[in-house]
Amino acid sequence: MAPIRPVDARSPDPRLIAEAAAIIRAGGLVAFPTETVYGLGADGLNPAAVARIFEAKGRPPTDPLILHIAEPEALSQLVLETPPVALELARRFWPGPLTFVLPKRSVVPDIVTAGLPTVAVRMPAHPVALALIRAAGTPIAAPSANRFSRTSPTTAQHVQDDLGDRVDLILDAGPTPIGVESTILDLTRPVPTILRPGGLPREALEAVLGPVAIQTRVDEGPQPSPGLLPKHYAPRTPLVLVLGPAPQMRAAMRELAARYTAQGHRIGLLIAEEDRAEMADLPVETAVLGPEKDLETVARRLYEGLRELDARGLSLLIARDFGERGLGLAVRDRLMRAAGGRVVAPGLDADERGYEIGR
Ligand code: AMP
Ligand code: MG
Repeated sequence: MAPIRPVDARSPDPRLIAEAAAIIRAGGLVAFPTETVYGLGADGLNPAAVARIFEAKGRPPTDPLILHIAEPEALSQLVLETPPVALELARRFWPGPLTFVLPKRSVVPDIVTAGLPTVAVRMPAHPVALALIRAAGTPIAAPSANRFSRTSPTTAQHVQDDLGDRVDLILDAGPTPIGVESTILDLTRPVPTILRPGGLPREALEAVLGPVAIQTRVDEGPQPSPGLLPKHYAPRTPLVLVLGPAPQMRAAMRELAARYTAQGHRIGLLIAEEDRAEMADLPVETAVLGPEKDLETVARRLYEGLRELDARGLSLLIARDFGERGLGLAVRDRLMRAAGGRVVAPGLDADERGYEIGR
């Protein structure tokens, strides 16, 4: 198992950072906290080091990685040109959970971009991440530090559980503050396009850019963004997502839970505090993500809640939707993919959706 080394989230010990940076420079793998989730980091300009990321995650080589930088000026060394809109967005939102997709320079290895002519870059807002990138003196490629297609890690222990035997060092600065991955914005198109909703809400982008497009569903052909795969972020236990206005949504969750528990299945519910009373009499296990309007808390708790329920050997998880405002859109996106298409909207017959229990 990889050593887990505690590190102060606000003022990381320079000696520990130097140790971690030496591993990166030598082509090794360091898991480290960002403000979104824990990343699995390697020297982003070293193809052999980047290959180790793909191997450790079991990630297909067709899924490109994000390069993490420690100052906005480093962007221009990785991309062919920096459009004014990128400068403006960087000025407002970096460091932060916003990733740009732009045409790449040849210094960026093809393995990083899965052969695409574009590269994804962001400057994370976490002192540990920034210190590590600076000390390593290279952009750090860092996808989420979990096995491919599984639930992302928001604690060092999650990383240990998933990748403990495949990483050289884990830096532990406690739970990550945002809890969902960055918003990925493609700036190579005529209209800036969100490829993955994430920690920076769409509304914040639109306040600067005007309307942005969202393209989060690609059904065939090469995937421009791995987060676009229909099954991703998934627990091992099958999950059904229930959409709709709160009263109908709760009624549908109750009905599903009652039906399956009556058949002898053990069910887990991923809910809001407001749902608790209405579900209290059901013989189910629950993970409460937070108050339904407190989307920051819900996002921060999302992966933890999924992992908690996933560890209990249940037959089915039933999750509620949190709307599409603010971080709700990122939460919905993750739950949709965790559900792998098993979505119930009240008014539609659940059986018609064709999901099944067990695997
Ligand atoms: P992960 O670290 O697992 O959250 O995945 C990294 C994210 O960056 C994925 O969702 C990728 O789609 C995205 N990404 C990286 N490079 C590109 C690119 N050139 N074009 C579009 N998306 C990209
Ligand atoms: Mg990921």
